[in-house]
Amino acid sequence: MIIVMLGAPGAGKGTIGKEMSSKLGIKYIATGDVFREIMKEDTDLGKNIKKCIEEGRLVPDDLAIRIFEERILPRDINVDMILDGYPRTELQAEYFDELLERHNLKVNYAINIDISNELIIDRIVNRKICPKCNEIYNLKYGKKPQVDGICDKCGSELIQRSDDNEKVVRDRLDTYEINTKPLISYYKAQEKLRNILSNEDTSIDELVDVAINIVRMGE
Ligand code: AMP
Repeated sequence: MIIVMLGAPGAGKGTIGKEMSSKLGIKYIATGDVFREIMKEDTDLGKNIKKCIEEGRLVPDDLAIRIFEERILPRDINVDMILDGYPRTELQAEYFDELLERHNLKVNYAINIDISNELIIDRIVNRKICPKCNEIYNLKYGKKPQVDGICDKCGSELIQRSDDNEKVVRDRLDTYEINTKPLISYYKAQEKLRNILSNEDTSIDELVDVAINIVRMGE
């Protein structure tokens, strides 16, 4: 079972994907977490990726595809997985489909979280993450840390991602519109697209339930 999470940055792909992963017992993989680790390295690759992330741009396709295939994709490609942040362009999706086909596998569902840009910006500027275990919190929506500024899971001090500020968020939303939104049509054409509507009244738990039902019922 391969599930691709789609949606603009800040739509909740990470929070929902992780919850689904623990409830369904499926591996959760977030390319952004890996790229943020690589950006800490004092190498040309690290610097290159840091620049892309901090400017709200995507890592170029050739690099992103290579890193995904060589460093992110599990060695045992047959494991069930939820992918958050990959593919993010049509080229990545095509390469991924070809790779899966060579292993007699396919993407089963592309779950798209549909949400307004205003709500996204408000969510992102209130988001905090744990730099150590990548747990996600939100000071206004969903899960808040039990102790202010401290990760419930590992006790590390929470930070704001360097790309979680309004200027970069707007650039990331533009990048999403141009590069990633076309994937909605891509997966719709393959009859794999499932839409989940998120607004101010829907809780993360409700969205997770809807997503899990889609997968369990094979809708
Ligand atoms: P995320 O945590 O998913 O919002 O990703 C953070 C940043 O990592 C993005 O803004 C991109 O710069 C980079 N990134 C993550 N996944 C990809 C991908 N599939 N292709 C290119 N860049 C990516």
